[in-house]
Amino acid sequence: MPLFLNDTLRRQKVEFTPRDPRRVTMYVCGPTVYNYAHIGNARPVVVFDVLFRLLRRLYGEAGVLYARNITDVDDKINAAAMAQGVPIGAITDKFAAIYDADMATLGALPPTLQPRATEHIPQMIDQIARLIEAGSAYAAEGHVLFRIGAFPDYGQLSGRNLDDMIAGARVEVAPYKEHAADFVLWKPSKPGEPEWPSPWGAGRPGWHIECSAMIESELGLPIDIHGGGHDLIFPHHENEIAQGRCATHNGEYARYWMHNGFLTMDAEKMSKSLGNVLLVHELVKEVPGEVVRWALLSGHYRAPLDWTDALLEQSRKALDRLYGLLQDIGPPDLSEQSSPTWSNFKNDRVAEVVAALEDDLNTPAAIAKLFELASLARTAVAKGQAREAGHLRLALTEAAGVMGFLQADPDAWFEGGANDDLKSKVEALLAERVTARAAKDWAAADRIRDELNALSIVVMDNPTGATWRLKDS
Ligand code: AMP
Ligand code: ZN
Repeated sequence: MPLFLNDTLRRQKVEFTPRDPRRVTMYVCGPTVYNYAHIGNARPVVVFDVLFRLLRRLYGEAGVLYARNITDVDDKINAAAMAQGVPIGAITDKFAAIYDADMATLGALPPTLQPRATEHIPQMIDQIARLIEAGSAYAAEGHVLFRIGAFPDYGQLSGRNLDDMIAGARVEVAPYKEHAADFVLWKPSKPGEPEWPSPWGAGRPGWHIECSAMIESELGLPIDIHGGGHDLIFPHHENEIAQGRCATHNGEYARYWMHNGFLTMDAEKMSKSLGNVLLVHELVKEVPGEVVRWALLSGHYRAPLDWTDALLEQSRKALDRLYGLLQDIGPPDLSEQSSPTWSNFKNDRVAEVVAALEDDLNTPAAIAKLFELASLARTAVAKGQAREAGHLRLALTEAAGVMGFLQADPDAWFEGGANDDLKSKVEALLAERVTARAAKDWAAADRIRDELNALSIVVMDNPTGATWRLKDS
C-alpha cells in the first residue's frame, strides 16, 4: 500500500512521494526549554515518532532524516534565567536533557538531528539578509520585519485573508511597521537579555526565522514533511512558509504539512490557572511510559484527544492483555522464522497493521488490527497450535513495534508494576518454594502460595522455572 497523509495545505489526504526516496526529510517543531513538558506537548512527539518509525520501515533506517529543534532563546527562557539569576544556558541545558529523557520514557526514538536555535544564529542572519535583498523584509529601528504584502500566497496554509489578519492585529501596532501584520525576524534585546551582533544592530532572532533557517541549513529546502501541533498553523507555520519561500525566490518550502489535534484534560483546556497541567515527568513516575504512549495513540492524531483517568486505565489493561498473551505463548522460536511458509504468514499479518498506519497514520485502526492478531493467537494457544501461536506472536511484536509497542520483555512488564521491596520479597518466596517442592514439603509450599496470594502475585510455572506478575487491580 502506498502511504497517504493528510496535507494541511491541500486540505486533503494525498499520496506521499518523497523528493528523494534515499533521503526522506521531516522536521517537527520542538520544545521551548524553560520548564517541564506537559502531556499535550508529548502528543506531537509520539505521533511523529510513529511516522518516523513507519518511514524508516518504508525507506530504510538510513534513508530518513528527522529533525526536531530545540528553541533555546525566547522571552520565557529569559524571564526564567533572570528570575533565577543564571545564564540562559543553565535553564535550557537542564530542561533539554529532562525533555529528552521524558520523551524516551514514552518510547520516542531520538530524532536524527536536534538543532538548537542558539547554534544557528549566523544561518538566521544569512536568511534574513537574503529576505531584505529580495525585498521581502525591511529593517526599521533595530528590528527587521517581514513584509507580508510582498508575498501573495500569505495566508494559504491557515486559510486566513490578509485584511482579517491586519484588522486582527490592529491593537497596538508598532510605529516602525509598514503594515500591521508584518512580523519580526530580528529584534533588539532588552538590557540583561542575551544578544548577538548583526548588520541591523545587536539583538536576537524572532521565533519563526529559527525554524526556517534551521530547516534550510540542516535538511535543505524543500523538505518532505513538516509537522507540529494544530496551534502552530498560524502564525508560526504560515510565517515559516513566507520566509522559506521568499528566501529561495519562491521555491518550495515543505511538501506535506501535518498537524496533530489538541489534547484536553477531562474536556477542559490544560492551563496553569485551572491547575490541570499534567507533566510527563510526574506522570511517568506513576504509570509506565508505554501506557501513556498507548493512551496518546488510541485516538486518531488529527482529532482532539480528551485525557482522563479512564483512558489511562483502559490503556494499561490493553497492554496487560497483550503482554499476558506474549507471556502465555512464551519466547519465540527464532529457528522457525526462516521457513518461507511461516514467514509469508507472518508478513501478511504485519502488512495489515502497517496498511492502517499508511492510511494517514490511523493508529486506532492499527490497534484494532493488533487485537485481531491477538485473538487469532489466543485461539491458536487454546487449540494447542504452538507453531501458529509462535508465528502470530512474531507478527504481533513486529507490527506493534512500528507503533513503538510491545518491545519490552513480558515478564519485566508485569514485574515493572512492583516496587523493589516487593520484587525481592517475591524472589525470596519463589526460591523458598523451589526448595520446599524439591524436599516434597507440601505444607511449606502451600504456605508460600498463600503468602504470594496475599501479595497479589500470580505465579506461572513453565518448563524453565516460574515467572510472576501482579494481579490486575
Ligand atoms: P510549545 O512548547 O508550547 O511550543 O509546544 C510544543 C509542541 O506541543 C507544539 O507542537 C504544540 O503544538 C504542541 N502542543 C502544545 N500543547 C498541546 C496540547 N494541549 N495538545 C496537543 N499538542 C500540544
Ligand atoms: Zn517551528
